[in-house]
Amino acid sequence: MLKDVLSRWPVFRQIQTGANGNGAESWSERTRNLKPKTAGCEVSRSICLYCAVGCGQLIYHRAGKLVSVEGDPASPISRGHLCPKGANTYQLHTHPGRFTKVKYRRPFAKDWEDIPLDTAMHMIADRVWESRESCFEETKDGQSLMQTKAIAHLGGATLDNEENYLLKKLFTGGLGMVCVSNQARI
Ligand code: SF4
Repeated sequence: MLKDVLSRWPVFRQIQTGANGNGAESWSERTRNLKPKTAGCEVSRSICLYCAVGCGQLIYHRAGKLVSVEGDPASPISRGHLCPKGANTYQLHTHPGRFTKVKYRRPFAKDWEDIPLDTAMHMIADRVWESRESCFEETKDGQSLMQTKAIAHLGGATLDNEENYLLKKLFTGGLGMVCVSNQARI
């Protein structure tokens, strides 16, 4: 009886086993029963969307809800590691402070206002088209050119491969823009 009580005491277990107190002998009952927050989750493989390094990520989810995003030890690029940005991918999706509305600051205004996404998209489309129409060069020195240098696009590192492909198709192939780059290249 006394031995049972004492054996629940980490120091007693340490003395009994001669261990250094860094292992299982120092665990409390509560610690012994702890489970990782990802226990029972489904796991999907992905790639960090922040920069061109492309570190491997494991996306843990349960019942359609994101639980955790961690480094993928099987990735030959990152071997389970993520930098501070990549390690915070979970917050990118879940942080209550993230912006979910379009912010617009009118010319000469001091404050930002929220505008509907549809309105913002139409405003951007109108401006892109007006700029293209006013500066499009169809020819130069008798040669076909079909380009505009009046509009430039700088993509962010959170754009994925598919989005970048579509951007390049639209801007270069569709609109004739030649100034298209990405922050991950800078
Ligand atoms: S942002 Fe960090 S974790 Fe993400 S791909 Fe780049 S180096 Fe890797």
